[in-house]
Amino acid sequence: MDTVVVGAGPTGLVSAVALARRGHRVSLVDNDPGPGDAEHWSRRGVMQFHHPHGFRPQAIDVIRAEMPEAFDALLAHGAVAFAPDGVPAGDEVPPGSGLRCRRMVVERELRRVAEDEPGVTRIRGRADAVLGARGRATGVRLRDGSVEGDLVLVATGRTASLADDLRPSGDSVDCGLAYVSRQYRLQPGAEPGPITSVIGAVAEHAGYIVIVFRHDAGTFSTLIARPSADRRLAALRHEAAWTAAATAIPLLATWTDPARAAPISPVLPGGRLHNTYRGQLDARGRVPLPGVVFVGDSVCTTNPTAGRGVSTSLMQVEHLLALLDDGGSDPEGLTLAQDAWCGDHIRPWFLDHLATDAAQTARWAGEDVDPARPPTSDLVVSATAVDPSLMAVVGPYLAMRALPDSLTAVHPRVQEIYASGWRPPVAAGPSVDELAGIVGAAAGAAAPDVPAAPAAPDTPARALA
Ligand SMILES: Cc1cc2nc3c(=O)[nH]c(=O)nc-3n(C[C@H](O)[C@H](O)[C@H](O)COP(=O)(O)OP(=O)(O)OC[C@H]3O[C@@H](n4cnc5c(N)ncnc54)[C@H](O)[C@@H]3O)c2cc1C
Repeated sequence: MDTVVVGAGPTGLVSAVALARRGHRVSLVDNDPGPGDAEHWSRRGVMQFHHPHGFRPQAIDVIRAEMPEAFDALLAHGAVAFAPDGVPAGDEVPPGSGLRCRRMVVERELRRVAEDEPGVTRIRGRADAVLGARGRATGVRLRDGSVEGDLVLVATGRTASLADDLRPSGDSVDCGLAYVSRQYRLQPGAEPGPITSVIGAVAEHAGYIVIVFRHDAGTFSTLIARPSADRRLAALRHEAAWTAAATAIPLLATWTDPARAAPISPVLPGGRLHNTYRGQLDARGRVPLPGVVFVGDSVCTTNPTAGRGVSTSLMQVEHLLALLDDGGSDPEGLTLAQDAWCGDHIRPWFLDHLATDAAQTARWAGEDVDPARPPTSDLVVSATAVDPSLMAVVGPYLAMRALPDSLTAVHPRVQEIYASGWRPPVAAGPSVDELAGIVGAAAGAAAPDVPAAPAAPDTPARALA
């Protein structure tokens, strides 16, 4: 089969190689020039590229199954596998392990494998339309020509508009937070800072979250996830403001102490983040153009502090491959089956984030938990600090081995905990108002006058905590 994959992010790269290894002739279309030999890869158009990523087992298992040499190369590069129980894996990395690594490093390896794959032809260009004839997809149009294919995978990410005419705009709700992050490398011989989670360390403050993501080869990212509506914190993008904040927030102060680590990136502000879900079908619930399948972030994005995006993307790829392996040659049936599966297995994560993000925004605005209402998933997770037996149900949800509605089984116990007056502890350090004062002073401007960070391209979906 001739297949066109549009978009060479994680979704497109894994899809292209996996299909080529199943005998498809694959054209992989993307406008990005790639990293070349340069150490830095700017990756314009993928706003999150240098922001912190953690890679859950669901994503890594697909990469290992389809491109095992990429996984081996990542380990050789210094990426750290963590076993399902969260401890670093030994020499034999068991299936079901996640990976701590910079996104740039992961994508560079995926791309290298795709470039070496004989059945994949990489085409540099921007696809501006999906072409069809006699009611079937026939390829894509580029600015200067076209690429033919019977199957077109649209893996164009969270903001792209390719084939927007084929399906409704879907559901998109602001996560209510924005990223400001920075990458560091441990000084030679220095030990990491405190570790409180599988991915690194997490501190929930009054009105914002701080996360340290450990990566490959002694590198790590520090993240302040701030309320996007609070313009005062937009000034964090200034070096002086970031440094003042990192000094004032205890977790960051420990990790970024110059004796321990040095920055290897500028301060990176992020754009608005959205939870989005867009199915495959048109407004009347029909397959718009048989032979076209949307995959990855072009279907679903979720609050990234949970680190689910690459997993929900590659889970879609895995399912699509299984359909094709089962002889899914009827293109209409293929799209219908993929859409139904995504509705059952991907959309629940989108809906879960809608509820948890709205609840978080309300709490950051000062609203108390209402124990009379069914708790949102984040409140269920927090309640495990009071009753560790809840982990029997919460653990599989956290690991994405059980869908969010599995948590309803423990709602009565969790409501009891909140009705007792208990509330999740808040980390020591400045409140959001105090942080705004620190940031405003350091940025050399009265806080309310600080302009908002420039709007970066939009996205989706919370922590591997
Ligand atoms: C701030 C942030 C942090 C995140 N952190 C995590 C995390 O910790 N863990 C995790 O699992 N996920 C995380 N995610 C989600 C993750 O980044 C995405 O799920 C992932 O990038 C999706 O991959 P993709 O290949 O579908 O899309 P993308 O990576 O966006 O790739 C799309 C590609 O399509 C190309 N393209 C677009 N339009 C066209 C066109 N018309 N023609 C040709 N090419 C085109 C683009 O150039 C790009 O190369 C995060 C997201 C954000 C926003």
